[in-house]
Parts: sequence; C-alpha cells; structure tokens
Amino acid sequence: MYDVRSPKATEFIDHQEILDTLAYARENKDNKELVSSLIERAKDCKGLTHREAALLLECEDEELVEKMYKTAKEIKQKFYGNRIVMFAPLYLSNYCINGCVYCPYHAKNKHIRRKKLTQEEIRQEVIALQDMGHKRLALETGEDPVNNPIEYVLESIKTIYSIKHKNGAIRRVNVNIAATTVENYKKLKEAGIGTYILFQETYNKESYEALHPTGPKSDYAYHTEAMDRAMEAGIDDVGCGVLFGLETYRYDFVGILMHAEHLEARFGVGPHTISVPRVCPADDIDTADFSNAVPDEVFQKIVAVIRIAVPYTGMIISTRESAKCRERVLDLGISQISGGSRTSVGGYVEEEKIEENSAQFDVSDRRTLDQVVNWLLDLGYIPSFCTACYREGRTGDRFMSLVKAGQIANCCHPNALMTLKEYLEDYASPDTKKKGLAVIERELMNVEREKTREICRKHLKEIEEGQRDFRF
Ligand code: SF4
Ligand code: SF4
Repeated sequence: MYDVRSPKATEFIDHQEILDTLAYARENKDNKELVSSLIERAKDCKGLTHREAALLLECEDEELVEKMYKTAKEIKQKFYGNRIVMFAPLYLSNYCINGCVYCPYHAKNKHIRRKKLTQEEIRQEVIALQDMGHKRLALETGEDPVNNPIEYVLESIKTIYSIKHKNGAIRRVNVNIAATTVENYKKLKEAGIGTYILFQETYNKESYEALHPTGPKSDYAYHTEAMDRAMEAGIDDVGCGVLFGLETYRYDFVGILMHAEHLEARFGVGPHTISVPRVCPADDIDTADFSNAVPDEVFQKIVAVIRIAVPYTGMIISTRESAKCRERVLDLGISQISGGSRTSVGGYVEEEKIEENSAQFDVSDRRTLDQVVNWLLDLGYIPSFCTACYREGRTGDRFMSLVKAGQIANCCHPNALMTLKEYLEDYASPDTKKKGLAVIERELMNVEREKTREICRKHLKEIEEGQRDFRF
C-alpha cells in the first residue's frame, strides 16, 4: 500500500502506485489541455507530483514538448542562472564484494586490476586534482568491509581535507559509498562530508534483485532505505540517482520522484541532488546486454521534466556523456558537471594502460578541466568552483528554504565569480583566463545587491593580489 511517509521501501516506492501512475500517463498523454495546464502551473516553480511529471514525460505532442523545454530552461535560469558547478570523482578502491551485473567492479570480474589507494597515493591524487583546479570531489569506493571499511573511508576524508598544495584545497568532499548503518552515517557526518550520494540503480524491486544477484547490495529494502538512515544520522544533504537503461526509463523516472517526495514528506528536505547517469560500456560490460538503453532525445526530456518537477534539486551529469549531449542538457536543467575525470583508481597521477584497466566506466568526454572550463565560457556559462554552503552551515532545510525562496542566487552568483577568479589566477591557460576575466567583468553587473557587488569586487581584487577563499 502506497504511503509516502512510511519508512518501508516497498511502501514509499510502491510498485502498484508506479504502475497506476504509468497507466494514468498513458491514458492522458493526448489530453493537451491537461498537459498544457500542468506546464503552466509548473512555471510557479513549486514542482509537480510524480503523476503529473509522468504525464509530461509521456506526452509526445511536439508543441507541448517544446513548451516543456522552454519552461525547464526558465526554471533553470531562475534557480541556477548560467552557473555550472564543477567537481571531479576520486576513486579510492575498486575492491567490491557485490555482483552488480552492469558494473566492471563486480566481484566475479577476474580480469580487472584491483587496486586500493594508500594514504600517500591519495595525497598524490589530491595534489594532481588540486593542480587541475578542483575544489569539490566525489569519493567513490566499491563495497568491501575488509579492504574498504568505514575507517579507511574516514581516514581518506581526513587526508583529503588536510592537503594544502600551493593555493589548492579540496573544500567539499561528497561521498558515494555503499548503503550502511546509522552509526556509520554519523561517522561520515562527523568527518565533514558534503553530500552523501547513493544511486538506487533501479527502483523496480524485481529487476533490482536480478541485477544484484549477490552481496549485501542485493537487499533492496536496505539499499532503498539508506537515505532515511543517512538523514536519521544527521546527514541532511543526500544525492539520489538511477542508472537509466537498467529498467524502463519510465519506471525509474517515477521511482526517483517518489523517492524525492518521500524524503521531503518524512524529513522536510528533498534530495540535494539528482544524478542522471546512463548505462555505458566498460570492461566486461556490453551495453547491448541492456535492452532499455535510453536514446538521446528521451534523455533530454527526462532531464527537462525532472527540472520542472523538482526545481530546487541540483542535477548532475558525468563524463559518461559526450560533450554534445552535455551541451544540450546543461541548457535544460543540469547544474553540476564533472570535468577532466578519471574513472580508474589512481588515474589522476598516472593514466592507465588499457591492459591494466581498473576504470568503472568508459569516459566519453575526455577533455581536460581547462578545456571544459573554456568550453563552458564559450557557451555563456560561468564555471563555478563554489563550495560555500556546507562550510557556512547552509545545509538541509536551511539550504532548501533559501533555494525555494529564490534567494540562494544572492550567494551563488558572487561565489561563482570569486571561485572562477581563483581558478583563472592559479590554473587556467592564457586563452581560458582571457575569456574568464571578460565573463567576470560582465557578470559582476548581474550581482543584484549593490552592497554584495561591491564586496565581491573588492574580493576579486584581493584574489588578484594573492588572497584566497572568500565566500558569501
Ligand atoms: Fe560494487 Fe558499486 Fe560496482 Fe556494484 S556498482 S559492483 S557495489 S562498485
Ligand atoms: Fe552551491 Fe551554495 Fe555555492 Fe550556490 S552558494 S553554488 S548552492 S555551494
């Protein structure tokens, strides 16, 4: 029985409710008046329910789809302006005892090279990342209580935060590790993590169990209820995601919105971010094995409708996607992207030889961070290295109330300019620096409050003179 507030996975992600939602969407998809009224209502930026969003996704009327795209762009502009937050993944270990059939780290894959970074190797990786200009990381490890226990993750976080190389610093460490206990989530909270990220992969219990035949991750309820435990432990920024292509995209699209509604109903805060990866090729993994592959045009529509349905939730896309695809979805709703990523363990210090493959997936966008920053500037975006919120205690409902009131931009915009300026001073190529400085000059005029603009201008000058780490 569907119950949005229930702590039980099968009740807040009720299978029948998803089927009924999909049937409702199919039955009403040609009701132009209804779809149009929902798009109109979405313009007030209060979001849509999973049923309403499913209907939008199902509608194929070209004119209405264009209207959806237009609305998604307007909402994106209102909450995120033209800022794009940059981050990089850092793979600590690919030891894993799970059997996820879509991931090359699965325990039975005997020809992948297993590797776990020592603290010294982490230091070297972080220095390499700092030298690229990164300030925000997403830690990734496989699940293995012997090789990657929580103590290893905690020690690694401590190491990462402690490294100050030249002007570099990692100021926000987001963590993507397996579902764990309330006690361990409390430890992560104490270690000062930013967002706790865990992808559901698929919300369909039957498919989930088939895709995760062995290991602790095979427990659907334990995995699906992980965000509840994280929130009970005091982590109030959680990042959800599905791996599109494992199940039908319609099912998982409804599932992820129901998950967001559940967290909002139970804890008063929806997910901080939603990630939208698609199944992609990797060692021992052939995408042809997954018949639910999502074509580009559907993928764009998914991004646009998520943007409309949960306007206040950041959306993340990785280097799995090509530059062309990333360009299109940036416009429709993505607010964070990775740049210059290496998806192998130790890949920032030394790029891997093919035969040593330890990567989790093939990177499609292989450009350096500087090339990605340059490209974003050309497209009219402001690449932002901002990490201010969690360092200022703006997390959970405090953060969400600012976002919902449309006030967070008063912080995001000047912070984007100041962190971009740091990047330009310390790491950019001459061409990127030239373009970036012009963008900062232009965008300074768009800092709404005069007082904030003047403080920002002063800090930009101070950054030029060598000072670092200003924030609103
Ligand atoms: Fe392990 Fe995660 Fe890969 Fe599954 S998806 S095999 S849990 S690393
Ligand atoms: Fe993100 Fe907060 Fe910085 Fe805005 S001010 S970019 S919400 S960390």
